[in-house]
Amino acid sequence: MTHKKSIGIDIGGTKICGALIVEGGNILKSVKVDTPQGEASDTAHVVSGVIKEIISNDVVGIGLGVPGWVDHEKGTIYNTPNLSLSGFDLRGAIHDKFNLPVFIDNDANLAVLAEHSFGMAKDYKNVIGLTVGTGIGGGIILNGKVYRGVTGTGAEIGHMVVQPNGPKCGCGSSGCLDVMASGTGLIRAAKERINKGKESQILKLANGNIENIQGPMITKAAENGDKLAKECFDEVGFWLGIGINNLINICNPEMIILGGGVAGTGDLIMDPVRKVILERTISPNKDVCKIVISKLGNEAGMLGAGALVFESSKVSHNN
Ligand SMILES: [Zn+2]
Repeated sequence: MTHKKSIGIDIGGTKICGALIVEGGNILKSVKVDTPQGEASDTAHVVSGVIKEIISNDVVGIGLGVPGWVDHEKGTIYNTPNLSLSGFDLRGAIHDKFNLPVFIDNDANLAVLAEHSFGMAKDYKNVIGLTVGTGIGGGIILNGKVYRGVTGTGAEIGHMVVQPNGPKCGCGSSGCLDVMASGTGLIRAAKERINKGKESQILKLANGNIENIQGPMITKAAENGDKLAKECFDEVGFWLGIGINNLINICNPEMIILGGGVAGTGDLIMDPVRKVILERTISPNKDVCKIVISKLGNEAGMLGAGALVFESSKVSHNN
C-alpha cells in the first residue's frame, strides 16, 4: 500500500515553513523562508513558491496554517493581527495556482491536530493543546475531532479571561490568559519588579536597559538561581495553571499538551502550574489528565497542516 502525501504550510509572523509529508507523519522535504512584510498577495506569492519547491506529483492536497481567526469550513480569514491576511481568500488563491484540494485553519488548532495525528496525543480522544510563546494559542480535540465551534473561531483559549482587572489584550478585552501567562506576561512581570528597584541579574543580561529584556534572559537568570526571575515564573505559571485548571474542569481531557518557548522552560513554568492543579482542580478530572510538553517543536505547525489534508480527505471519502 502506498502512503498518501500532503503539503503542510505554516504561515507565521516572521517565517513561512512548508513540508512534504507522508501520511504517518514523516517529513520528506521542508523549506523555510521569511514572511514578506507587504500585502496579502505577496504572502500568497511566497507561499506558492514554497509549495513549488517541495511538491511531488502524487500530493493529494495542501494544508495552510494561519495565525489568526479562520473559518476552516468557509475558508474565511477573519483576522490575522500579525499579518496582512485579514479578509484575503488565501485558500482560493492557492487552489487557483495548483488545482488541488486546499484546506485552511488556525495554527493552534493545527498544532494540537499534529499531536493527535503524529505526536504524544496519538492514543487519546480528548486533548487540549496550548502554544505558550509570545502569546497563547489553543486547540481542542473532542471525541477525536478538532473542536472549532460555529464560525471556526472557538477554542480561543488565549482569550479566556483569568484576571478581569489585568492588562489590556490585543483582542480588546483585558486580563486574558494571552497577556497573563505568555512570554509577554513574563517580561511584564520582570519589568514591574525591576521598575520598583528590585535587584536582579536580568537587568545585567539586558545590558542595563530595561527595554531590552526578553524572555530567554529571564529564563537564564532563573536557571542561575535569580530570585526575581523565579518569582516571575511563579506568577506567570500561576496564571497558566488557573487557565489549565478551568480547561480540565470544563473538558475533562486525557491530556493537556504544551508547546512554545515558555513551555520549553520545563519545570520553571511547570512547577507552579502543577501546584495550582493539585490545589484547585476537581477529582477525578485532575487524576486522569496528563500534562506534558510537546516534542514536535517547530514542526508542529507544518505537520498539523499536512494532517488537516489527510483528516479532511478521510471525511469527504466517508461522505
Ligand atoms: Zn484577549
